[in-house]
Amino acid sequence: MGYDCETREDSAFLFVADDPDLLPGIFSKKDMLSKMQDSNTEQIRREFRQRQSRQLLAIMVAVLIIVLLALVQKRSDLFGEIPAKMVSGLQVVVIGVFIGFTAFNWRCPACKKYLGPDIRRALCNKCGARLR
Ligand SMILES: [Zn+2]
Repeated sequence: MGYDCETREDSAFLFVADDPDLLPGIFSKKDMLSKMQDSNTEQIRREFRQRQSRQLLAIMVAVLIIVLLALVQKRSDLFGEIPAKMVSGLQVVVIGVFIGFTAFNWRCPACKKYLGPDIRRALCNKCGARLR
């Protein structure tokens, strides 16, 4: 498949460490390779699910804060006069943090490339790794 060598070595090491039953000589080399590939795929899917939940959470939090800030600005009767500049400054900060987080989080677990705007994508369009 399309992953780079570093990723494959990492998960092979994890797989051997996770499974004490896997002793050299018991499985043929072909069995071992296909088992390693399964665990590699499973690990990619698991990491993708984590990244996806973090991304959804970040979207919700960012939207919530921006909406709250807009409300705070509108309802000066409730929250007092808060300078419009301060509110829009805070909104820019929230958007900046969100973009930074997305650039760090929203990447393919296999090739580490940016995944693009589709939150529900099933395949990495860079390396073809199955994500779901
Ligand atoms: Zn990829």
